Amino acid sequence: MELVSTIPVRKTTHSKIGEVNWNELVFGKFTSDHMLVCDYADGNWGQPQIIPFANLSLSPLTLALHYGQTVFEGMKAFRMKDGGVNIFRLERHYHRFQKSLERMCMAVPPKELFTEGLIQLVKTDADWVPEKRAAALYLRPFVYASEPMMGVKVSEQYRFVICTGPVPELFARPVKVKVETHYVRASKGGTGFAKCGGNYGAAFLPLSLAKKEGYDQILWTDAKENRFIEESGTMNAMFVINNTLVTPPLSDSILEGITRDSILTLAKDMGYAIAERPISLDELEQSFMDKTITEAFGAGTAAVVAPIQLIHMGGIDYTLPAYTTDSLSSRIKLQLEKIRGGEEADTYGWNTII
Ligand SMILES: *Cc1c(COP(=O)(O)O)cnc(C)c1O
Repeated sequence: MELVSTIPVRKTTHSKIGEVNWNELVFGKFTSDHMLVCDYADGNWGQPQIIPFANLSLSPLTLALHYGQTVFEGMKAFRMKDGGVNIFRLERHYHRFQKSLERMCMAVPPKELFTEGLIQLVKTDADWVPEKRAAALYLRPFVYASEPMMGVKVSEQYRFVICTGPVPELFARPVKVKVETHYVRASKGGTGFAKCGGNYGAAFLPLSLAKKEGYDQILWTDAKENRFIEESGTMNAMFVINNTLVTPPLSDSILEGITRDSILTLAKDMGYAIAERPISLDELEQSFMDKTITEAFGAGTAAVVAPIQLIHMGGIDYTLPAYTTDSLSSRIKLQLEKIRGGEEADTYGWNTII
């Protein structure tokens, strides 16, 4: 892959950067000027290229559109205190990308292609990395099956694309969640641990039904008994019960969140007790009865933490105490932001400064 270090760049002649209102960024509204594309065919990855952001041209028979071989990552680059740019936990995202692609029987871009591709692309569009702390350049690497063919088959051609776009800090207002005991997100032996497109499409109906009932998000339960908590929407679920940060253990039905990992690592080092163990609905109900539950939140790249204000289960709405800057989730979020922005030492080697 010696070609990667010199990825050719075709620069746009019509930068859109002047159209961005940096004081009122909207998540997902703008894409940066450039994207990276690289094709796989005949068992090999070809020459990656950085080109002006543009629509893709697809055959209607493109396999990904019919049989769902699509995998993505969601990650961020941050502006450091000293003006530098940091891609957060690059290595870990690659590792997960690889696992997702292998589960979907897809070609895996080599690590150097992923790493150098991201670095070169973010360098090319460095002016698009917002200045504000906790605002970010969202990075969206993805691979789809690009072979045009009518029949059901494993694609032999793939396209790897990376697009980016500036996003604001998401101040997640505390959400109301409904424990889902009919629909399931993922099952044992399934694809729940992979960031593949179908997982999200399958969650939209249950989510839209929950929204009609007045809830913002779904708290998923296990597919076998609907008895144990799995995830909170598209975030990992975390609770503070008896002053311990608890989260369900990883399995093939739980996505291995990198924010989850960062939060567990920081919580431990900040002196909090942590536990990765199954959390049953019975336990959760009991923790509300005896008031040992003090926090519940989703963990993910978009908002870091999304506090939960209310959990609906067994026909009852259970309310959580208000969140403050002293809450465990607020303190850890702040610490994470400081490490990302270079205000605290990166003792874990999480930052890739470009
Ligand atoms: C992406 C994702 C998460 C969170 O992962 P992060 O790496 O923390 O962003 C959690 N659950 C699901 C289903 C996801 O898709």
